Order: sequence, then C-alpha cells, then structure tokens
Amino acid sequence: MKLLYEGKAKIVYELDENRCIIYFKDTATAFDATKKAEIQGKGTVNNALSSILFALLEDSGIKTHFIKKLSDREMLVWKARRFDVEVVVRNVAAGSLCRRLGLDEGKRLKRPLLELFYKNDKLHDPLICREHLFLLGLMKDSELKEVRRIALRVNSILKNFFEDHGLLLVDFKLEFGLLPDRSVGVIDEISPDTCRLWDMKTGEKLDKDRFRFDLGDLMEGYRRILQRVQGG
Ligand code: UDP
Repeated sequence: MKLLYEGKAKIVYELDENRCIIYFKDTATAFDATKKAEIQGKGTVNNALSSILFALLEDSGIKTHFIKKLSDREMLVWKARRFDVEVVVRNVAAGSLCRRLGLDEGKRLKRPLLELFYKNDKLHDPLICREHLFLLGLMKDSELKEVRRIALRVNSILKNFFEDHGLLLVDFKLEFGLLPDRSVGVIDEISPDTCRLWDMKTGEKLDKDRFRFDLGDLMEGYRRILQRVQGG
C-alpha cells in the first residue's frame, strides 16, 4: 500500500482510489513535539476509542470518514481532502484558552466556544479568525458554515455521551475534509490525545495532559476512559 502521510501519532496508507487505512502508532508528543515518548499500547486504545466515537457520530447522522475498525491498530476510512484547519470546541476553560485570556482553569463556559487554528507546524498552529481563513484560502464560506454546524452538533453528542459515563468533556479538536461524495465530514481521530476529559466526580484528568504535565500514568487514564465508555 502507498504511504500517503506519516504524522506524530498515525500513518495513513492509500488502499484504493476512495479509501485509506489509518495506522495508530504508540508515539506520544507534546509542545510541538519537543516532548516525545513511546507509550506501549496507546495506539491500540486510541484506535478503539476513535472507532467507538466515530461510530456513535455516524449513528447520530454526522458525516465522518469512518468506515470500520479493521484491527487493533487500523481503521478503514474514506479518503478525504483535508482542510488545513484545526477546529477546537470548548465547554470548560483549560489549556491555551487560559494562557491566552487569563481565565481560571475549570471555569464553565456559558455556551460552547469554537476556535479555528491554522494547521501549520512551521507557524506552530496559530489561532486564526474567519477572515484569515478566507485570506489563506483554507475553506469557502459555505464550508465554514457546515464545519461550524457539524462541530457544535458533535460537541453536544459527545458531551452527553461522556456525561452518561461519568466523564466531563472539557474541550476537543476536530479536523474536517471533503469526502469522496464531496460532502464535508469529520476526519482524523477523536481520542484522549485530542480531547480533554476529566472524571466528573473527582476532577481527575484522564487525557493527554497527564503526559504534557507529568500528572500520572498516561495509559492508566486512557484505559479508564475506554473502560467507562464500554460500560465498565
Ligand atoms: N489539540 C489537539 N491537537 C493540537 C492542539 C490541540 O488535539 O495540535 C486538542 C487538545 O488536546 C485539547 C484541545 O485541542 O483537547 C484544545 O487545546 P488547546 O488549544 O488548549 O492547546 P494546548 O493547551 O493543548 O496547547
């Protein structure tokens, strides 16, 4: 199979004209990959969780690239033309929002906040506004409208789902692309690498912040998320 793209945590292979296989690696990175480690089993758990969450979205009528989970580390997806934009949705203040605006971590936001970042390693993924997005030609107005609509709908589906399993969805990052049928859909992964998830009772952080800030065993947090969403 032709290797299409290798990122920090995944490899994308082309299967045929319309389909790709995503392979989940064990590499964990943070702070522009200045912090890096191999964490045994991370790829397996992220593939399992991403597959569960994409299936949930598909069942709720959201367009995504997900076709099916193929193996422990592989997911079959539709080939997409990716928009070079990271869409972050937040319910609770954390991370760069606190650093940027001086908010206290944990402050509940009155309504979900949607932010756009330019996916560009050299520029360190800067926060951009709508006008920048059009200036750079990253998306059309109609595509942005669709992306915003889908991202907010995904937030309400995932927030309720995690809440049902005792987890607070603080924030998360989505990527979007044009699917083979030309529709806008959610692509990439949805995992504890790309979401902040806190235990609703204790406030314990179970996501990648454990790795970023040495808060505890990363895999213990990820496995607890997986167990919870599997009903354990
Ligand atoms: N995020 C991501 N990839 C990135 C940047 C952020 O998956 O390149 C996720 C991150 O895990 C968090 C959310 O997007 O769930 C918001 O991240 P934030 O802007 O607070 O940045 P950070 O504090 O992680 O630098």
